[in-house]
Amino acid sequence: MNIFKSKTENLIELKNVNFSYGFNSVLEDVSFSVKVGDYIGIIGPNGGGKTTLLNIILGLLKPTSGQVVVFGKPVGQLKKERAQIGYVPQRLSQLDVNFPATVYEIVSSGRTALGNLFHQFTKHDKEEIEKAMEIAKISQFRDKLINSLSGGERQRVMIARALAGSPKVLILDEPTTGVDISSQEQFYQFLADLNHKHGLTIMFVSHDIDIIANEVHSLLLLNKKVISFGPAKDLINKDYLEQLYGNKINFTFHKH
Ligand code: ADP
Repeated sequence: MNIFKSKTENLIELKNVNFSYGFNSVLEDVSFSVKVGDYIGIIGPNGGGKTTLLNIILGLLKPTSGQVVVFGKPVGQLKKERAQIGYVPQRLSQLDVNFPATVYEIVSSGRTALGNLFHQFTKHDKEEIEKAMEIAKISQFRDKLINSLSGGERQRVMIARALAGSPKVLILDEPTTGVDISSQEQFYQFLADLNHKHGLTIMFVSHDIDIIANEVHSLLLLNKKVISFGPAKDLINKDYLEQLYGNKINFTFHKH
């Protein structure tokens, strides 16, 4: 067996992960893995543990039991490599919005996360920042203040900030929060391009089930436990969605 290959094939691996806040059990026996090139959507009801799961993968929360392996190492042992997890939070923090920062400054802050807080950017750093802005199609906004942009444009800035850190995987928490409905499909098209054209591994939490069902390769259905994990086309049906959300919700699916 090729050890190197087996190490890199699974970028993220969770084995029998349990997590509780005090007596409130939030995740139970969660196991799944993310491979290079994957494009995964995580869906589930509110309170189903999605944000907690992301925080565990980011190493911000420690599981009560079970293993979390990222880039071949237990997540707690990651040092500089941690910066290669590109994380895009639900929305910019109030600080980022109110602070008079330009798009360029915000995107470059993704490069500082690599640990070189006080050093001057090298030529390579600057190239990576430019590339990130180009890919996210925000170069034309570089000198604009972040609070002058629309929700969708801001979200692309956040993605560019994550890309500037040369991530191996991009993790997004409800990326279309604050993006108007008419721009959402366009936004998912942009994510799909990042995956298909640029080969970036992507995992995100979303409520836009009918859009993402046609976009992602795999879905993780999460409600404390993994209800199922597999190809989106096999899981978007009444039985699974009732298991996940109960039978109170009506879904309509649009095939593109
Ligand atoms: P989701 O993202 O799927 O809506 P969360 O992971 O945010 O779910 O929350 C899962 C459960 O954990 C909920 O019951 C929530 O009330 C609880 N929870 C979330 N954050 C905390 C916290 N910081 N302290 C205590 N309980 C929390």
